[in-house]
Amino acid sequence: MTKTDAAVQTLSSINPDVVLESYSLNITTVKGFEVFMESLKRTWKKAGDNSGVDIVLSCVDNYEARMVVNQACNELKQTWMESGVSEDAVSGHIQLLIPGETACFACAPPLVVASGVDERTLKREGVCAASLPTTMGVVAGLLVQNTLKYLLKFGYVSPYLGYNSLKDFFPTMEMRPNPQCSNLACLERQKEYIKAKPARDAVAKAKMEAEASVTEDCPLHMDNEWNICVVDDTEIIGSTSGQSIDTLPEGLTHELPIADKLQAPSTVEGTSAVIDDLEDLQRQLDALNAV
Ligand SMILES: [Zn+2]
Repeated sequence: MTKTDAAVQTLSSINPDVVLESYSLNITTVKGFEVFMESLKRTWKKAGDNSGVDIVLSCVDNYEARMVVNQACNELKQTWMESGVSEDAVSGHIQLLIPGETACFACAPPLVVASGVDERTLKREGVCAASLPTTMGVVAGLLVQNTLKYLLKFGYVSPYLGYNSLKDFFPTMEMRPNPQCSNLACLERQKEYIKAKPARDAVAKAKMEAEASVTEDCPLHMDNEWNICVVDDTEIIGSTSGQSIDTLPEGLTHELPIADKLQAPSTVEGTSAVIDDLEDLQRQLDALNAV
């Protein structure tokens, strides 16, 4: 069975509701590249939506194929994530590539390639590259985790995350695009990105202002049945010391307790609860030792 068919079979058994499509082709050939490009360009028509590909994950095992994915994504302005494991199988990396915004794969070529040595001549005849499924598993996990954060918009999406399994070292860095990149589509995307800066700044400013006004007016939710309000820390300090009851939010009619009175008994209770717990633990230990 081909790797693609095996993947489709496994994934369908995990989630039969997902529509999967597999292609088994060599993307480094002219025909293969065409089919690859078409598969990325095709849009899935949902109700009132024309979304295409959200992200491309590259899990290929050679430089040529990576350069082809890079070429396609640069031409189509397609965000993608690259992943790889070293020849000795003890380290790996994942990298987020946004055409024009971050370095593309050709912007910072690996040393071997930059020095003009053919990758194929480095491989010894009859000797396979090392393979550790654990390293592959960790790198694949990092790739999927980063993808999840990117697609569902939470947390920090790493632009580059390395993994050195011998030292459990995870280097991270950001790579800006190279203005002298050898990839013409990359240079085009860089120009567009610079040109769009004023529009990006305006969006960022509007977002900041919107966030600021939310904090000022407190309407986190439109239907705020219980008049719950977010207040500044400094206001809480003021009202608990009995100075500024006027600043109490609308709907809150009782004065808040003085901070000292509020904390004193709870601290004692908290401590005694800890002591109880400790004594209880000691009793359990004693019982165990007795056995
Ligand atoms: Zn580039």
